[in-house]
Formats: sequence, C-alpha cells, structure tokens
Amino acid sequence: MSLTYISTRGGGEPLGIREALSMGLAADGGLFVPSEFPRIDFSRLGEDLTLAELAPEVLKPFFASDPKLSAALPEICAAAFNFPTPLTKVPKRPGDFFLELYHGPTSAFKDVGARFLSGVLTHSSYHSPSSGKRTVIVATSGDTGGAVAAAFHGKPGIEVVILFPRGMVSPRQEKQLCAWGGNVRAFAVDGTFDDCQRIVKEALQTKDRLWLSANSINLGRILPQMAYYAWASLTRSRKSGGKSPAFIVPSGNLGNSLAALWAKKIGFPVGPVVLALNANRGVADYFDTGVFTPTRAQPTLANAMDVGNPSNLERLRSLYPTLKELKREVSAVSFSDSEISEEIRMSEKEWGQALCPHSSTATLARKLQSLPSEWIMVLTAHPAKFETIVEPLIGRKIDLPPALEEILERPARSESIPPTYAALKSLLG
Ligand SMILES: *Cc1c(COP(=O)(O)O)cnc(C)c1O
Repeated sequence: MSLTYISTRGGGEPLGIREALSMGLAADGGLFVPSEFPRIDFSRLGEDLTLAELAPEVLKPFFASDPKLSAALPEICAAAFNFPTPLTKVPKRPGDFFLELYHGPTSAFKDVGARFLSGVLTHSSYHSPSSGKRTVIVATSGDTGGAVAAAFHGKPGIEVVILFPRGMVSPRQEKQLCAWGGNVRAFAVDGTFDDCQRIVKEALQTKDRLWLSANSINLGRILPQMAYYAWASLTRSRKSGGKSPAFIVPSGNLGNSLAALWAKKIGFPVGPVVLALNANRGVADYFDTGVFTPTRAQPTLANAMDVGNPSNLERLRSLYPTLKELKREVSAVSFSDSEISEEIRMSEKEWGQALCPHSSTATLARKLQSLPSEWIMVLTAHPAKFETIVEPLIGRKIDLPPALEEILERPARSESIPPTYAALKSLLG
C-alpha cells in the first residue's frame, strides 16, 4: 500500500495526498502527517542536481497515492522552484553557510511552499477549471498572504481571499497583499490576526463556496520545504566527505523547521537542528520543562515569528513522542528584540551583509553552539522587506530586489471589513 496521511490525533481514516491537500485539517481537528517515512537512498541521486531537479525525487513517495499528480511533479517543481536558493559562505567563518531562501517573488521563504501548492492545486491532473471556481482563503500576519497572492495571481478557475489585520502589517508587507487585483482580493479586517484566523475557520466550515485553505498547516506548503533541506544537506555532505551539516532555522509556527526534520527522517544528511525563536519563547520553555503553555503572541521585530501557539508543534510531537527523543536531535533558543537589533548592526559591520530581523535570530543562535560541524543558517526573508527596522540600524539604504520593486510600484487596493464572516460573505456575493 502506498503512503497515506493520518491525523496527529489518531482519528479518522487514512487519506491519500489529494484528499489531505483539499481538506487542510484532519476530520478530528488534528494535522495530517505521513503514515510512514520512506527512506530515500540519496547515494543513487546524481551529482550537482538543482533544487528543481532534486525536489521531485524527494516528493515522489509522498504523492504515490496519486500516480497522475506524482508524474506531474517534475513539471510542477520546475515551475515552482524557478528562483535561486544559494548556499553561500559566511565571510570570516570557515564551515558556516547561509541558505538564502528569499530570492522568490515576495522575498521570503514562504514563496517555496506557496508556489508549489499553487502548482499542485491548479494542475490539470488535480482539477479542471471547468468543474467550478474554487476560492483559496488565507489569514496572514504579514508574509504568508503576499506569497499566496503572488503564487495564485492570474490562475484560471481560482479566486484568492486574503484577510489581514488592518494597520498591523508593515507598509511593504501591506503592499504585497494589496497590489494584485484580478483574481486576488485583500480584506483589511478591523481586528487582530486571531480574528482573521477565526473568520477563515468559519468560512471553511460552510459550503458557501468551494473553499481551499492555504494556511501553513497545509501539507502542500510543508512537503516542498523538505526539498531545500535535502538539497543543501546533500550538497554540503558531498563536499565535506560525508558529514551531516547542522541547521539553524528561524521559527514561529514551526513549519519550516518541521520540513528540515522530515528531510532528516527520510534519510538526508541533516545533522542537529536548532530552532531560533524571538521573544515568543513558549517552544524553548517546552524543551526545558516538557510542558507547553500557549500564550497570546507578543509583537516583536521579527513579526512573522510572533506565534504564541504554533500549530506545527503537534506535528513535532508526533515525530518525537518523548522529550528525550526530541532533545537528542533538536534544540530551541529564544532572543529579545534588543539582541536582534544588535545582531543586525553586527552582521552589517562584520560581514557587510544586512540581515532581516528573522534571519538574525539564526546567526544569534550560532554563537551558542559548540558542536564541531558545518553550520547552515537559514535566511528566511530579504532585509529590504523590513527596511523600517533594518535601515536605521545599519545606517544605509538597502537595494530592493527587482521583484519586490515591481510590486511596490503597482497601485494597492483593499476593502475594510468588520471582523465577522457575515461581512466577508456579503462582499464576496
Ligand atoms: C513565516 C516566517 C518565519 C517562521 O516560519 P515558520 O514556518 O512559521 O516557523 C520566519 N521568518 C520569516 C521571514 C517568515 O516569513
């Protein structure tokens, strides 16, 4: 039998990839995880594969329940991963590397998952536009909505609804949410991110439209993220005589770090994984005490990591049922805003490279590691996205990546709504 998806809470029937992608959440409210982790023999993979070439090899077993979709993976990956994800040497730090994941259309790593999800959901083997219009809905505190909008903009048979808390995203993030038009509509909700999430949940429980959820718990966003860990670990391992590099991942909802651990689980040479957190330190406390206490998210300079109750913790716990197993391979550290600011200054001075507030938690975490190993620090967003924070700290302007510049030049439009599903429904018609 091919690989299926089961709920982290153990309820419901095992499902194939197609159903798991359309449902988002499992029927018992848990999250989908693979029923098994196939071992991939990476030694048989060719030398010098690009990310787009390696990704289908990594993903194939996870799509085995749907042979047509599985056969389409090379095409979907080639279209989704059409931007570079370079591994660069950290100046003056032999054995340390940056994995730059911010060269996509919205300058954050979320482009990888959003573009892959869009590629799958709009592929002819998944859905034909003639069988009805579907509505992708997403609540965003900043980066997710822009990546999803960019990925689904102009796709036939799909409309996109973005909900963001009015006045609570950075000016450039807002532009990335509202500058699309066409099949993308952005709604500024008079409320918090939690209100936006509640409206999404309410919408998904109705049959008012053919809803699809594009939030970060969707497998279609997590699975493709394994590919860059597979690629980076394989690249370094082959160059270092078979050693497994360690990874440091700026983390909030834990989707990115989970992908690193899943890549390790299927056999790629991923060494220890460090979760770098901002002042929302609940996960670090969980590593210390074995008890997780959800909190209200506290706003920090690294706003895409402001999560008080990370949904993917449930997947992490299902991967490592005991704290002892978890701590053998994973650790977590948390940093304050003042440490983040200082680190942004330092990175510019020391390396001539400005880091975004999220990425700087990874370089902060590196200083606490004593294990002799190659270390790969994951850079999750381009600093130009957070110029109001970074530019005053480093005392210079940051050049805009061309894709971001192009978005910023377009007119932006959003519709304000009160924080209720009824209000959204009446505007959608
Ligand atoms: C979303 C995001 C994160 C956090 O990733 P998770 O998968 O939620 O842990 C870190 N940095 C940036 C720039 C992000 O947009």
